[in-house]
Amino acid sequence: MSEYEAVIGLEIHAEMLTQSKMFSGCEVVDSVTAPPNTAVDPLSLGMPGMLPVVNRDAVEMAMKVGMALNCDINQFNAFERKNYFYPDLPKSYQITQLENPIATDGYVDIELSSGETKRIRVRRAHMEEDTGKLTHLGDGTSLVDYNRAGVPLLEIVSEPDICTAEEALAYATKIRQIVQYLDVNTGDMEKGIIRFEANISVRPKGTDELNTRVEVKNLNSFRALTESINYQIAEQISLVKAGRDVIQATAGWDESRKKTFTQRTKEDAHDYRYFPDPDLPPLFISQEWIDEVRDQLVELPAEKVGRYKNQMGLSDYDASKLAEDRLVAEWFDEVVTAGAEAKAAANWIINNLSALMNEHKQEIGEIQVTPQGLAELVALVKKDTISNNTAKQVLIDMFTSGKSAQSIVDEKGLAQVSDTGMLEGVIAEILANNQDSVQAYLGGKTKLRGFFVGQIMRATKGKANPKLVNQMLEAALEAQREG
Ligand code: ADP
Ligand code: MG
Repeated sequence: MSEYEAVIGLEIHAEMLTQSKMFSGCEVVDSVTAPPNTAVDPLSLGMPGMLPVVNRDAVEMAMKVGMALNCDINQFNAFERKNYFYPDLPKSYQITQLENPIATDGYVDIELSSGETKRIRVRRAHMEEDTGKLTHLGDGTSLVDYNRAGVPLLEIVSEPDICTAEEALAYATKIRQIVQYLDVNTGDMEKGIIRFEANISVRPKGTDELNTRVEVKNLNSFRALTESINYQIAEQISLVKAGRDVIQATAGWDESRKKTFTQRTKEDAHDYRYFPDPDLPPLFISQEWIDEVRDQLVELPAEKVGRYKNQMGLSDYDASKLAEDRLVAEWFDEVVTAGAEAKAAANWIINNLSALMNEHKQEIGEIQVTPQGLAELVALVKKDTISNNTAKQVLIDMFTSGKSAQSIVDEKGLAQVSDTGMLEGVIAEILANNQDSVQAYLGGKTKLRGFFVGQIMRATKGKANPKLVNQMLEAALEAQREG
């Protein structure tokens, strides 16, 4: 055990999926596929005379996220200019919220592998605008694309309550899931639609010191997030143990070398000469607007998990698995509404349907099976029309052909034979033709039971209801003993 512990605070930048930019009517386009510099306007390009106007949808999205993170939504909002020069920032300032952010003082609860729940406080969430994108060609030239300049961003800042890479991952996963649930963000890390920054320091275990930290920027995968945190923790502990100081710095993550590298020793807030943006009056959010947005909030993952466990009796695992993706959860809800028993529906989705979706690389919104269709399949098993094993085959058929469970069962003649009169005849005939085996069975060779079952299944082409076969076979054999 090390006598040091890490202190970590995360800053998460999430683009908000609005149609237009944060402060202008300029269209927002896919930053990867759209031709460079086609979605730009005077504001994105920092032309003289341009005037920003706040995007109403972005404010609503920011409110929703704030509410989902249990924050206070602040009615008085102001915008500041953060001044610095860089080629991806044509205005030479970024409009952001410094003193009066839209949301403050929230929290999220994360679950750890130990089974414990830990509360991570959210300090604030504020609205700002994204920068353009630079591509360095490696020959000394760089290209710049301003399509992304001015795209609405929400920056979510945690308190330094996180102590390990595992906790950071759980927290980041939760935030990502929440913005996806709210349709605020796609959750795409590779494209940088959501990206992370980790502030890391170390201290002797059990103290509450906040020591000098290193800020690792632009982490765009969960792996980069956890690996860079672990790297920094090890690095800082070894520095401190050697009696040296951690130097406050901004760092990047080198994916191929699995190391952080220092970009610049950290500037302070006053270097940015923040001041209120004179072009943007303060934004006042009325209580009515806040109430209206709160009314539109969808059921959030934690609420869904609670409902699945407490009202439907699902296990922890099943409940969280289903709630992971809002669309899957809503699909499951519809299967239950269509009459299927919750546990059965959950099993079919988590085990069988997910496997098929993976195999065919389809999302829940793309598949041919409908929630009502799955409910029908579950009902056929419940009524003993088909066995569980047959149902698995039927589901595969439903998935690829789009046909209903009932029509597949009818077409292929898969319904189980539960006709006792017919089965009695079949069993009697098989026992009569295999008297040696019957005597051996009655003499104690009970393993022969499987042989009889096999004969019956063969005679009925596999369609006899296995439960019924077992019951009736047992009775018929016992009758022979007595007779
Ligand atoms: P800045 O605005 O300069 O990036 P902040 O004080 O606003 O700095 O904090 C940014 C993030 O750094 C927050 O998530 C916060 O929790 C975290 N943080 C602050 N102090 C420390 C520290 N000593 N060690 C680790 N993280 C820290
Ligand atoms: Mg920062």
